Amino acid sequence: MNGGTIDLHTHTTCSDGSLSPIELIELAAQRGVEMLSITDHDTLGAYDVALSACPNAPQLVPGVEISARWKHQDVHILGLNVDPSARGLRTHLQGQWQARKRRAERIAHRLSRRRIPDALEGARRHAGSGVIGRPHFAAHLVETGVVPDAATAFKKYLGSGKVGDVRTPWPAMSEVIDWINAAGGVAVLAHPAKYGLTATRLRLLISAFKDAGGGGLEVISGLQQEAGTRVLAALCDEAGLLASRGSDFHHRDQRWAELGRGPALPTSLRPVWSRWT
Ligand code: AMP
Ligand code: MN
Ligand code: MN
Ligand code: MN
Repeated sequence: MNGGTIDLHTHTTCSDGSLSPIELIELAAQRGVEMLSITDHDTLGAYDVALSACPNAPQLVPGVEISARWKHQDVHILGLNVDPSARGLRTHLQGQWQARKRRAERIAHRLSRRRIPDALEGARRHAGSGVIGRPHFAAHLVETGVVPDAATAFKKYLGSGKVGDVRTPWPAMSEVIDWINAAGGVAVLAHPAKYGLTATRLRLLISAFKDAGGGGLEVISGLQQEAGTRVLAALCDEAGLLASRGSDFHHRDQRWAELGRGPALPTSLRPVWSRWT
């Protein structure tokens, strides 16, 4: 497989995606995806559902996207091919759930001081039984007419430096890598280009990630430009990491992150799935 039909980064209603795990698997099957990982934010909830095999269902690789901190930077670490029933990992994810709950309360409090009432209830309703996050606050702000769309909600209220950008004591990146390795998975640094780091700092992050036991780099994230892929491929090769690819699919109308789409991995790199195929 050259990776043309492999998608190792997707979200469902268990976190901030809009399709249920089964709907996502059905859509993946329709699009000819051969290997899929559902990587919800800080939860393995999708793997608790009976994921009934639909015709042409892709091979499912258990995964999770864990929020972590490196120095003062929030980073996302994918745990791929983890054992979804690993006790230790499950316990740590419970802690993440608590951290998200406390963060949500603080976001709502801060929004209330901006005369936006009932944001916690609104966000909770949008999250349903899934893990709560900022996109659920964005959905509340859109629904109540405070902003026209989610992008504006992040730009004005939830994004970096805005009122709803509450500092969260996420665990250190090295700790999260340990959780993933202990659960038998491969830790992959998600969407490295999205942290807004300088080239020097990105290289530092990648080398710290590797030193801490990280195994892979997400070289392809969504429908990215060729130039960006070249830079990440070079960094991946230099660090001696395995290469991963994923769409970061959340919704059907997210054009830059279409399920199963995106460029193939450069053939010079060793794909992360070589670890389990
Ligand atoms: P959280 O995990 O609660 O910190 O929320 C982060 C999530 O918000 C990301 O995984 C994206 O799904 C979403 N997100 C981040 N930035 C934006 C943005 N500018 N517009 C829409 N969604 C965003
Ligand atoms: Mn998300
Ligand atoms: Mn992410
Ligand atoms: Mn993601």
